[in-house]
Amino acid sequence: MFRIGHGYDVHKLAENRKLILGGVDIPHDKGLLGHSDADVLVHAIMDSMLGALALGDIGKFFPDTDEKYRGADSMELLKEVTAICRENGYIIGNIDATVIAQAPKLALYIDTMRQNIADVCGCEKSQISVKATTEEKLGFTGEKLGISAHAVCIMKKI
Ligand code: ZN
Repeated sequence: MFRIGHGYDVHKLAENRKLILGGVDIPHDKGLLGHSDADVLVHAIMDSMLGALALGDIGKFFPDTDEKYRGADSMELLKEVTAICRENGYIIGNIDATVIAQAPKLALYIDTMRQNIADVCGCEKSQISVKATTEEKLGFTGEKLGISAHAVCIMKKI
């Protein structure tokens, strides 16, 4: 009836890149580096959904060696992952995600991220939780070298 999944992702911060989190373009002096738009939050969420159904991970479905996914909008990929889960007989019960970033402050953008993700996944905003924290200036997130994200989800049988 229910299946649980976990996802984790990291991207490096770099100059001359947009910072896209949960489909929101956030003003910052650096952005995340990656083959796609490097939306680390959405990547962790997709991996949790695929993980719940033991279908592998986003690297399997959207390989970063494929030119097709260069600069890809991760929200479009999330739409595909939602469809894949549905084809396998499952929809989202709820998702809880945490973004770990020393900077910028994300509180202002959290609600829009939740709404964006809910819209793409065809569920309610109340089913999508996004939180943000720092690691107290410790490690690679603390040193502003990168941003990481964790997500867990419950998928329920249609
Ligand atoms: Zn990623």
